[in-house]
Amino acid sequence: MRADNNMPRRTEKSQAAFAHAGKVLVGGVNSPVRAFAAVGGTPPVIAKAIGSQITDIDDNTYVDYVCGYGPAILGHASESVVTAINKAVRNGTTYGAPTEVETKLGMTVAAAIESIEQIRFVSSGTEAVMSAVRLARGFTGREKIIKCIGCYHGHSDSFLVAAGSGAATLGSPSSPGVPAGAAAQTLLVEYNDLAGVEAIFKENPGQIAAVLVEPIAGNMGVVLPGPGYLQGLRNLCDEHDTLLIFDEVISGFRVAYGGAQSLYDIRPDLTTLGKIIGGCMPVGAFGGRADIMQRLSPVGDVYQAGTLSGNPAAMSAGLATLAELRTEGFYSRLDDVSGQIAAGMQAAAIEAGIGAKVCFNRVGSMMCCFFTPGPVTDFASASQSNTKAHAAYFHAMLDAGIYLAPSQFEAMLVSSAHTDADVDLTIQAAKTAFAAAAKMM
Ligand SMILES: *Cc1c(COP(=O)(O)O)cnc(C)c1O
Repeated sequence: MRADNNMPRRTEKSQAAFAHAGKVLVGGVNSPVRAFAAVGGTPPVIAKAIGSQITDIDDNTYVDYVCGYGPAILGHASESVVTAINKAVRNGTTYGAPTEVETKLGMTVAAAIESIEQIRFVSSGTEAVMSAVRLARGFTGREKIIKCIGCYHGHSDSFLVAAGSGAATLGSPSSPGVPAGAAAQTLLVEYNDLAGVEAIFKENPGQIAAVLVEPIAGNMGVVLPGPGYLQGLRNLCDEHDTLLIFDEVISGFRVAYGGAQSLYDIRPDLTTLGKIIGGCMPVGAFGGRADIMQRLSPVGDVYQAGTLSGNPAAMSAGLATLAELRTEGFYSRLDDVSGQIAAGMQAAAIEAGIGAKVCFNRVGSMMCCFFTPGPVTDFASASQSNTKAHAAYFHAMLDAGIYLAPSQFEAMLVSSAHTDADVDLTIQAAKTAFAAAAKMM
């Protein structure tokens, strides 16, 4: 928490550093959401993060609910992870050759996630999904994929697509530079719309390589799969010899040790991972059925490669992280703390008189407060959110020492490092923040 919460937050150094950064880094950042475009203002420039706390260069300390957008499930600079990385880097950080530690992490992930028989490590979630979809296309000999509106699968061409008119449509590029031909192979449907998926299958017989979905959507806020939705996708894929790909880059090892697929008991053909499995180092992975994975080069004919793939620093950090996650009661404790935060914030919203105007979605340590009555079940309903009210709430939270992702459409993530004092401070801050938001609603 900030040294003196009664003093206004200091921002001079961050503002100067951010302006300076913009001279060489586009928009002052290396990933767009960090620039605060959705909420206005300029971001704190970070000096360090330890445990649940993140500190900027003006020496403001905040309780961190961004958690690096997912990886920091143990909080920051966790002792065992730092030790593992230190030990690894003393022996060199990349060799471009096989190591034992990558096999160890592969075995550990495969033991955790039942559907993963074989795996390949890459360096980002984007790479993982891009490669999994190429593999699915190579394996099935088909080109089209089905993707949900509002799900994020990284920034490769096939996934930067927007819906045209109509419920289920041919994708068109959502960014200049994406070839229309690439986007047209991506067919869009709202999340939780099983009938929409069925209709696409009917209209494109024998042409769908894969259905790609976040089993818990974590990139349009947090949106849960409705009852029967994931099972319905599984059934449709089986019926049409289409691969089911779960993008668990954010949900994997966050909602349960076995991922969202263990929580909902659905077995995808391929799974993509990232974030947590690299213990806050750059990482990604895709894995699944051995008969599919065996199509990957050098055994098979589907090409995929990476200079820094499986590098020992990331693999060691991942192993150390997963070891912590296996400690008895890890996920139930994380769920308890997250539940307290959600309940306290909900009470704060009611106290501010907007209890019926906001909607909380939560699965374990992934949660989101939408500034709309809800229910929020897909991107269309998420988009009803009052983003001006969200921005007011966001800035009030920041001023009160709570660091949230600067967008209505990002998850609030809790780590095992969050303390009772953090929870109290968060709920206190929420009272002020919801009062600020109430003025905009
Ligand atoms: C973060 C994320 C990605 C992209 O991962 P990067 O490491 O940022 O490339 C892909 N899919 C999902 C579900 C994610 O949350």
